[in-house]
Amino acid sequence: MNPILELRNVSKSFGKQKVLHPLSFDLKKGERICILGPSGCGKSTLLQIVAGLARADGGEVHMEGRVVEKDRTYVPPEKRPVNMVFQDYALWPHMSVRQNIEYGMRRRKTPPEAMRDRLARLQALLRLDGLLDRLPAELSGGQQQRVGIARALATEPAILLMDEPLSNLDVKLRTDMRNELARLLGELSIAALYVTHDMMEAFTIADRILVLRGGHIDQIAEPHVLFERPETPWVAQLMGYHN
Ligand code: ADP
Ligand code: MG
Repeated sequence: MNPILELRNVSKSFGKQKVLHPLSFDLKKGERICILGPSGCGKSTLLQIVAGLARADGGEVHMEGRVVEKDRTYVPPEKRPVNMVFQDYALWPHMSVRQNIEYGMRRRKTPPEAMRDRLARLQALLRLDGLLDRLPAELSGGQQQRVGIARALATEPAILLMDEPLSNLDVKLRTDMRNELARLLGELSIAALYVTHDMMEAFTIADRILVLRGGHIDQIAEPHVLFERPETPWVAQLMGYHN
């Protein structure tokens, strides 16, 4: 089966600092890959390049068989089949929950009827009853992140990008949301790139885990393979092996 997303030798520097060394991987239709790595290893940069929010220095990005970045070719974010959920929610503070969710659909000129249908479906899926007319500041962190997820899903992306979506929540809520998200992504069978530095999140959510370290892919494999056959000392250490 053709991958829905392909990265070929994607690299990125900021000034003299090489943040992503040429790296390549595929995401299959409906597959969930967690990008796992310590702070500063390039996770957000990688996701932003896929989203089209940052340019790669070199390499190619393909989506649904189409080039979205290569040499001078660059397809802007709203024309890519992706949408993103941010760590700090990034909701529009002056807009109601409803307006936040509708924003991306309006930009993409979604017909009003389809907008109504999707809003109703997302309201049920993400348990937003009674919240649609509130402002983000009137919601808890968990509710805000559910709105962030609804807003991203509203544009019906083929690929959902999530950048540490749970890391601003307290521990109890994070555990609940982790399980809820795993179930949701399974039900939607949507392809996702999910960035985290939390091993439990990666193991709960991922079909495959991409271990990123210093802008290199240490290993990309199914969770049990990482555990049973770590290919680098770093992955072994992450999996709890001590020598
Ligand atoms: P992560 O998400 O894994 O914590 P990032 O991708 O945010 O890592 O950052 C990787 C490295 O690139 C860090 O050293 C960071 O300081 C640097 N970096 C990220 N964005 C920029 C930028 N816009 N300008 C300069 N340096 C940046
Ligand atoms: Mg980050």
